[in-house]
Amino acid sequence: MILPIQTNQDNPILRQKAKEVKEISPQIKGLISDMIETLKANQGIGLAAPQIGQLLHVIVAKPESDKEALVLINPQIKKTSRKKEIIEEGCLSLPNISAPVERPIKITVQGLDADGQSVKIKAKGLLARIIQHEIDHLSGILIVDK
Ligand code: ZN
Repeated sequence: MILPIQTNQDNPILRQKAKEVKEISPQIKGLISDMIETLKANQGIGLAAPQIGQLLHVIVAKPESDKEALVLINPQIKKTSRKKEIIEEGCLSLPNISAPVERPIKITVQGLDADGQSVKIKAKGLLARIIQHEIDHLSGILIVDK
């Protein structure tokens, strides 16, 4: 199901801290498939659950439109490269706004996949940037704060 995306930087749902997922329930699986569908419908490259009104630690990233979305539940950044770069970012929750954001170029992130299996991913470039952007959403942080 395609869900409406929460917009506006003053929207309280985008400013609250999301909660960890305790169990990969059917509701969580449904949420994940809705998030992927919503992301595709908006031709986005990343989405965090709070953006569709669910204060839960679930993110999806899709740096390449022809590849499947990466799903991460309870993602935690374990390592970041010292090297950073500044790139202009946009956000589906802030239409018509872009802002330069400095982020490490490489990260190691740990979390659960859509089946609840523990995964550790080394990401760089665009994927690393999307993951960091989406994890910011879980703490109520938007690009305009950076
Ligand atoms: Zn965003």
